Amino acid sequence: MGAVLSQIPAEAMAKFTTMRVGGKPKSLTKCESTAELYEAVLNAWREESNYQILAGGSNTVFADDISHLDVILVANLGKEIVNETDSSVTVRVQAGEGWDEFVAWAVEHGYAGIEAMSGIPGSVGATPVQNVGGYGQEVSETITQIEFLDFETFEVEVKPADFFEFSYRDSALKHGLRGVIGWVEFELKKLGGLSVPMASGQITNHLGEPYGSQLPLQVVRDTVIELRASKGMVVQDSDPSSVSCGSFFTNPVVSKIKALEFPQDMQKWSMEDGEKFKLSAGWLIENSGIPKGYSLPGSKAKVSDKHALAITNGGGAKSKEIIELARFIQERVAATWGINLVPEPNLIGF
Ligand SMILES: Cc1cc2nc3c(=O)[nH]c(=O)nc-3n(C[C@H](O)[C@H](O)[C@H](O)COP(=O)(O)OP(=O)(O)OC[C@H]3O[C@@H](n4cnc5c(N)ncnc54)[C@H](O)[C@@H]3O)c2cc1C
Repeated sequence: MGAVLSQIPAEAMAKFTTMRVGGKPKSLTKCESTAELYEAVLNAWREESNYQILAGGSNTVFADDISHLDVILVANLGKEIVNETDSSVTVRVQAGEGWDEFVAWAVEHGYAGIEAMSGIPGSVGATPVQNVGGYGQEVSETITQIEFLDFETFEVEVKPADFFEFSYRDSALKHGLRGVIGWVEFELKKLGGLSVPMASGQITNHLGEPYGSQLPLQVVRDTVIELRASKGMVVQDSDPSSVSCGSFFTNPVVSKIKALEFPQDMQKWSMEDGEKFKLSAGWLIENSGIPKGYSLPGSKAKVSDKHALAITNGGGAKSKEIIELARFIQERVAATWGINLVPEPNLIGF
């Protein structure tokens, strides 16, 4: 492909991640076009280097020593409407575009399907990795296809959404499928300025107004951002509890029979088939004797003051401290409830 690659001075990953931890990598290559991104990744494969793809850094925790690692920064921008009908629009978005900027654009233009995922930080290209979701929506509901440089073939191919085997906070990219996403295509609906029917009651319950399940798009966006901010789930300089990766653990999914073993007052959500339930990981943590705001003695990592499921950097924490607290939480929850909490962020170099 022959794109010219731009190496930038390797600075500590604390500057590139919302958790603000992580050391200095061996190299840092910023890819401002899709061709550069593919070239950088192909080079890493050919040279068999230890590399890590990084975009917004909102779901990645780097170790303190990553001097062996080549970091490839996804920064390709742009979006275009590739198909439009009376009822829908298909938008191709380059991987490095900001996710929330894309949601804001869709809401402004009256395109529905991603409005409940307002305020989630990071890039568009990372959203398929863990099938990002919030307030009853998941990106897999609107993704149609993805351009993907596949490690199996070293070829760039346009793959249909089902190639990525999306499920709750999960995709094949978390289970061995290797490659890099160049762009993602989304099919959004035109519903006269209204949202798609809300799958979660949280927004309508909060508003306490006689809205049906479809609300004005901007109302959904504003309400979600307000709700998220109250839990430290919007990255803002003014909010120390947002120095995090969002939820540090996924909500465990268990069988219906297992779910019945847990107390009635515990939050549980029925999954599509009704045979499985998602348990509230935040509830499990708080009911294992770990309150919001908890820190291990002498540690600068702490459980968020606003949300038991988030670990925050209280200021100047080392990644070692973040991981120690995560392990402590896992051990406590396993000992109390027999549930193994699975970390949601990508832990790199540990
Ligand atoms: C305050 C806060 C709130 C959050 N709330 C939510 C939420 O409600 N729901 C939710 O699902 N997540 C949430 N997150 C997690 C995070 O925002 C998402 O996972 C987001 O998609 C990560 O995007 P990123 O660009 O920052 O990814 P990064 O952290 O840069 O990368 C994450 C992973 O994706 C890979 N990756 C990135 N770009 C590409 C690419 N182009 N091709 C292939 N692989 C790639 C990386 O290698 C890495 O493994 C939250 C995080 C924070 C800090």
